[in-house]
Amino acid sequence: MKYYSLENKDYKVDFKDAVLKGLAPDKGLFFPEKIPYFDKDFWEKSIFKTKQELAFDVVKPFTEECIDEASLKRIINETLSFDFPLVHIEESIYCLELFHGPTLAFKDVGARFMARCLGYFNSENLKAKNTILVATSGDTGGAVADGFLGIDGVEVVILYPSKKVSLIQELQLTTQGKNIKALEIEGTFDDCQDMVKKAFLDKDLENLGLTSANSINIARWIPQLFYYLFIYQDLAQFRKDIIVSVPSGNFGNIAAGLLAYKMGLPIHHWIAATNANDTVPKFFETGIYEAKKSVQTISNAMDVGNPSNFPRIIELFKNDINSLKNAVSSFSFNDTITKEQLATLYKNHNYIAEPHGAIGYLGLKEKVKDFSNKIGVFLETAHPIKFLDEVEPIINAKINEPYQIKNIYNKEKKSYIITSYKELKEFLVSN
Ligand SMILES: *Cc1c(COP(=O)(O)O)cnc(C)c1O
Repeated sequence: MKYYSLENKDYKVDFKDAVLKGLAPDKGLFFPEKIPYFDKDFWEKSIFKTKQELAFDVVKPFTEECIDEASLKRIINETLSFDFPLVHIEESIYCLELFHGPTLAFKDVGARFMARCLGYFNSENLKAKNTILVATSGDTGGAVADGFLGIDGVEVVILYPSKKVSLIQELQLTTQGKNIKALEIEGTFDDCQDMVKKAFLDKDLENLGLTSANSINIARWIPQLFYYLFIYQDLAQFRKDIIVSVPSGNFGNIAAGLLAYKMGLPIHHWIAATNANDTVPKFFETGIYEAKKSVQTISNAMDVGNPSNFPRIIELFKNDINSLKNAVSSFSFNDTITKEQLATLYKNHNYIAEPHGAIGYLGLKEKVKDFSNKIGVFLETAHPIKFLDEVEPIINAKINEPYQIKNIYNKEKKSYIITSYKELKEFLVSN
């Protein structure tokens, strides 16, 4: 499989190059040259496979020339080493919980898969060295820190805005040690992002082998399609239309679901649910895409005004807005409604959601009024403990601490304070 740049279809690279580069030199996102297709018979038989077997079959065409089968199997087994429970909420509605990984966020899957791909490439070439440079508003940092911990030949540098991530998030990214370095920036997430962008363009840093690990990287983007395979495996037996609602920020997760849809996965309809950052819902309404400045909400992992993966969705539908609208709907919800929904989910169904998942549930309810011959699934993308300051007062109850963070409060925070791009550059050169 080759990958072309969305800015220039003649520029093509293989999987390994696309992973190492992150973005094409013309700043275009990489996109698979051919979308593999699996027929009805494949999907019907897929329910008898294990999650790992099915994930392997579906992802193999994307990595074939660059990773041998045995190594890909190992990478998938190590990536998918925790549960993905589909929890029954009410009548025909289920929640796919994606927060049982080591950092309690769905980003664990993409980060673990990408880290292991890089580890594999470096094991082929022992002199290879990469520096992962990534800016985080919270969840990405922890998932990347955990996913890349101890991977051969990879140094990780994470920039986060000082005092603007939650305590758990900060501990997850500042306490790992080893090859993980956390830089605390006096500024906002946007300032972190700007410094990272600048570093990627800086000629003086070219020989450091800088690689990005955000969701534009295909090795983080593609493995997110696994979630939707699991939904189908669990629900195909009911022989009803399946509707999936995805809380969306940079739209990487839903773009991966739509990639699986184009590969033939029998999911009937898709919902991209957002918070007040409504660039995409507005686009569905008016046909005009207008990037905005992001606004702050309680579902802060989705505070994105110009979703970086949206061009991939347009490409998947070959620029045909009508066929996109047939398959996908998009709605926006404000904080007030989100809080009300969190309270109702707890009161009526005894389910503790967090703001991102509640928006997923709202999207489902907005689209489907009658579930008599349908099944709805929303994704819960983070553990509620990561948003306990919001959630506990709303439900008026304590959230149980999952085992993943039992010891985190005893670990020692280590970060480097950075106040300018010059300091970042000095740090990267001297490390
Ligand atoms: C990153 C994140 C999202 C948004 O995912 P995208 O792929 O960027 O759309 C949603 N919820 C949580 C908790 C996240 O961390």
